[in-house]
Amino acid sequence: MSTAKWDGLLRDYAFKDPIPVTRPTLPPLESYADLLGTVWDSRWLTNSGELHERLERHLKTFLKVDHLSLLCNGTVALLVALQALDIQEGEVITTPFTFPATPHALHWSRITPVFCDIDAETFNLDPNKLEDLITPRTKAILPVHVYGTPCDIDAIQAVADRHGLPVIYDAAHAFGVKYRGRALVDYGDLAIVSFHATKLFTTGEGGALISHSPEMEQRVNYLKNFGIADEESVLYPGINGKMSELHAALGLLTLESVDEEITKRKALTQCYRESLQGVPGLILSSETAEAEPNYAYFAILIDTNTFGMSRDDVNDALRSINIFPRKYFHPLCSHYACYEELPSASRDALPVAERVAEQVLCLPLYGELSVESVNTVCQAVHALHDHARR
Ligand SMILES: *Cc1c(COP(=O)(O)O)cnc(C)c1O
Repeated sequence: MSTAKWDGLLRDYAFKDPIPVTRPTLPPLESYADLLGTVWDSRWLTNSGELHERLERHLKTFLKVDHLSLLCNGTVALLVALQALDIQEGEVITTPFTFPATPHALHWSRITPVFCDIDAETFNLDPNKLEDLITPRTKAILPVHVYGTPCDIDAIQAVADRHGLPVIYDAAHAFGVKYRGRALVDYGDLAIVSFHATKLFTTGEGGALISHSPEMEQRVNYLKNFGIADEESVLYPGINGKMSELHAALGLLTLESVDEEITKRKALTQCYRESLQGVPGLILSSETAEAEPNYAYFAILIDTNTFGMSRDDVNDALRSINIFPRKYFHPLCSHYACYEELPSASRDALPVAERVAEQVLCLPLYGELSVESVNTVCQAVHALHDHARR
């Protein structure tokens, strides 16, 4: 679509500088330099250094979890989670509405992803469609708390228990979310979280694995360091999944402001909601009962007929005025060339995921975004709807 088409209509709402979908809030450079001073002095750059140990402790306190291991990123955390439970072949049931890392971690573990359709309200794996996908080859269930919205944990656990399957949560988006008074990342046999630059809490690259016993935490810590137990013994075929001191240092500083980041995003989310509520054809997600959200994403669905324009046209129009929303998650993972031939990837089997992937748009949301900017984004969306209706 030519951007010129929107020039007249949207000129008043155009941004001079691009508004990305997200942006990390960084600590003052001097604080980072100060903390790195200790690293320079010690010459200790990685392998469970002082800052790594401190960040692990601080995260356990912040999240109120007993067993947490830092990793170099969320994807390696997924790989290590699968190894930790000795899942290295067979099938694992997951969702197609996720970031590529989720099914790819299965593929790299020689596991066949089996895609399960999603729930129309939460966009998370639909437990009602789960049991039909279980076969003698099923080894585990890997649901994703998409946008930090809790999965239907009780229903998933009930199916898992009936079949003796472990549940690994991809909680990449769920840092800081509470569910029934407890950290969402503390649910499931294992859960992983990502500290990528685009995530709510960031170490640049990084992640963590949350487990539930000292033995499992120790096993994960061996696995992330080549399986090395001491100079003379290598216990498992591990990997290099360690977080460096440079990343841990950034994490220690960003952790100090994560509550403030959540508060700011909450206020911006309220602006979006107040302004976009009731616009015909826009569907805003509802908040989950018993959950305290982290406001990591602001996703809307756009119904082409009612709104008057398709999601893709809205996306193109906003881009033409320097607003850069993202179609998280489009295309579905089941559409990737590497998975589209799988029986579970058939479009007919995933009607809700197919529709949501065509309608979803994540609008810009980050702590340093101003209320005025959010209002301008909303005015542009209103202008598009008014234009489409005429
Ligand atoms: C970001 C993300 C990951 C991967 O995390 P990295 O730290 O980037 O490796 C996994 N799953 C989901 C759902 C994600 O959004």
